[in-house]
This record gives sequence, structure tokens and C-alpha cells, in this order.
Amino acid sequence: MKSHHCQKTSMFALFLFSVAFLLLPSSPEIDWQSVEKKTEELFKEYLSIDTCNPPGDVSAAAEFLSKALKKEDVPTDLIWTDKGTGRVNVLARLRGTGKKRPLMMLNHMDTVPFDRLGWTVDPLAAINKGGYIYGRGALDMKNTGIVQLMTMILLKQNDIRLDRDVVFLAVADEETSGTLGSGWIVKNMWPEIDAEYVLDEGGFGTQGFFTKDERLVFSVGVAEKKVLWLRLSTAGTSGHGSMPPKENSNSIMAQALSRITSYKTPIHITPVVSEMINRLGRLDDTPYNNALKRNTISLTVMKGFVGDPPKSNVIPGRTEAVLDCRLLPDQDPNTFVDKLRHIINDPLVKIDYIERPIESIISPYETELFKIIEKETHTVYPDSIVVPHLVIYGTDSRFFRRKGASCYGFFPGPVTMEEYRTIHGNDERIRERSLRAAVRIYHNVVKRFCEAKNL
Ligand SMILES: [Zn+2]
Repeated sequence: MKSHHCQKTSMFALFLFSVAFLLLPSSPEIDWQSVEKKTEELFKEYLSIDTCNPPGDVSAAAEFLSKALKKEDVPTDLIWTDKGTGRVNVLARLRGTGKKRPLMMLNHMDTVPFDRLGWTVDPLAAINKGGYIYGRGALDMKNTGIVQLMTMILLKQNDIRLDRDVVFLAVADEETSGTLGSGWIVKNMWPEIDAEYVLDEGGFGTQGFFTKDERLVFSVGVAEKKVLWLRLSTAGTSGHGSMPPKENSNSIMAQALSRITSYKTPIHITPVVSEMINRLGRLDDTPYNNALKRNTISLTVMKGFVGDPPKSNVIPGRTEAVLDCRLLPDQDPNTFVDKLRHIINDPLVKIDYIERPIESIISPYETELFKIIEKETHTVYPDSIVVPHLVIYGTDSRFFRRKGASCYGFFPGPVTMEEYRTIHGNDERIRERSLRAAVRIYHNVVKRFCEAKNL
């Protein structure tokens, strides 16, 4: 009796399921093998376009992206912000019904320069070696640029009906100030874009970043630390090295820096990091986690000499040092600087702001989009953990968070710490299979989130 009843129920469930299935928008099967091949081809072509910043000319890259989009009949505009220096942005849009506000995919075309001597391959040749593709920008962030481009192309080719516009924005100038890239777009074109969500850089599939074990952790950037650059300067009596004066500006600076570098900033767990600990069980003692849990201070510049080359027998009258400080989102820069003054405890040391941080906004992560990112990542990597993440460096998301958009920094491909260290360094490279996984997950996230729902 019981089993009969069960059978009936399950038959009915099957019927309901079939009806529901028929009502769903038809989803064309994607030939992922050929998509992955196409992704790699476009990626290699894109990597071999020199977009080093400085000088920051991205016109050839913009031309390349816009050509690929126009070939598929995706409406695309080139937005020039400075013709003389090749600052141009690419804006493309797939129209939805307008029922919901747009999702924007954001990437920057420029890269930092490279030191060719430090590389084992040509940084602009996009060479495959040992399962990797090498090139400046392979992880920061031409990888994401191409995956976003492919997402646009696939949505268009498969004629996906959308409830919200999908916008593609490739910008110039990110590796400097962003003024002629994202900054300009936000200032001059925001009402036209008005995205509810932005997908940007600021997260990877990581191993060994947060916990010292094999777990694959996909971090999704939802906030970033504040950038505070300070100039320390001291003045003293200049003169001949043979007769030490009472006040030597280098000595005063050396004492101040010794106090600063021996100062250990206190641990402070912010809500995003607390959520990371919740999801991971713990954060191990790693340099990365150290930066997640406290304000950090890096001494990046020291200058105290006369002459070029510097004279060994001249005492300079002025010494300068620069501190690159990164503050947790809820920290007040003035309070932090007061604390440094107190630690230095010397009125002869002057502290000036080079870069004052702007407010750091945390994007909510209890959202449908975040859940879809988790779900689609688990489809390809079932044993992985997805966590919201505090990005320890600066990204263009800061411009868009201030406009009220929720921004997620997200690249759904695995990257080891060794590979991560090649960003802005030598032999920057991405695993071929990371790129392949990323295009599939990225497309599925955007499609699932933006597709018109019939039911
Ligand atoms: Zn970047």
C-alpha cells in the first residue's frame, strides 16, 4: 500500500517536473569544448597587445575588443577620454526587458609594465608552457576581460532573453589613478549605466591563502581596504660628513622609522573577515591573513642624500620617506595618523598626506547573485568553499560602490599562491584549465542571474 502510494506520488512529481521543464525558457546546448578553444585563442591575441601603464595606451586593445563584439552584432561604443595618450574605454550592452536594473561586467585593459630581464619567456608572446599561458595581464586582468567578452558573445549568439541589461565595460587607466577610466565613466555616464550589480576583479579560486591545507576556496571581493599614503619628512643641518652636527635629518628619520617598523598594529576583525572565519572554520597564520586582520604599514620609499650618484661625505638637510598604509574599512585615517605621531614622538618629524582614503563601502553578500555565484562554482568544483572577501589592494569597484552598486570581485578559476605572486611580478601566468573553468562558470552565473524567467 505504502509503496504503491509512493509510486503514485513520484509519478505525479515527475509529471510536475516535466511540465515545469517545458515551461522553462529553452536553453540551447553550448559546445563548451569549442567555446574553451575560442576563449584561449582570443585570450592569447589579447595578451600579445602591449597595454603597459605607463604609458597606458590601450587603443589597440579597445579596438580588438570592440571588433570581437561588433562581429557578433553586440552594440558597442568606444569612449575616448584622452586621444593623445590612447585613453579609451569600451562600452557594450545587451538589452533586457528592463524589468530589473543592469548587471555590469567590468575589466581594465591596462597592465603594469614588466622587466623583460626577469621573465623566462617573452611577456608579450602569450606562450603556452607546462599547462600555463604566460603574459603580462594573464591574471590582472586580461583573463577576466576575455571571460566577460565570451559571456557577451555567448548570450548574444544563443539569443538569451534578459530581464536586465548586461553591460560590458573595459576601461583604461586602472593601474594609475582610474581618472580617465572608471572615474570618468562614473562622473559622466553613470545615469546611462545605472547598474545594480558590478562584477570586477578582486577574488580567485585559491589554495593555501587563508588556511594551510588543500581546500579550494573561492573568494569573492565585497569590500576593500583603504589606501593611505603618507610622506614623512625631517630637516636638519646639512654639511660636511667629517663634523657631525647636532641635528642630522637622516638620523632623526632613522629613529622615527625604527619606532614605526617595530610597531605592531592591533588585530581587528571586521564583519567580512568574521564571515570568512565562519565559513572556513579558521584563518591560519599567513602573510595574506595578516593583512586581512589589521592595518598594515609598508615603508616603500627612503630618500636622504645629496648628489647623483649620492655623495658619501655630504650630510643632507632634508630626508623623506613614504609609508604605504592599508587600513581596514572601518578605520579613521586621522586617528591612525595621530597614533603614528604618538609612536614617533618627535616634533621634528612631519607627516603629510599623499593619498587620503575615501570611504570604504561593503557590498551586501546575502544576495541572489552571491548565491548563484556559489551554486555555479559548486557545479564545477563541488568540494570548494565560497567566501565573501576583503580585498587587500585597491580596485575600480570603489568608484561604483560609491554610486550604490553592489560590486563583487570574482574570477572563478583556481590560482595558487605561487601564481598569485606573479601579478605585477615576473612570469605572470594562468593555468589553461583555470581559464577554461572560468569561462563556463562566469557565463552560467551571468545567464542564470539575468535571464528572463517565464514562470
Ligand atoms: Zn587589476
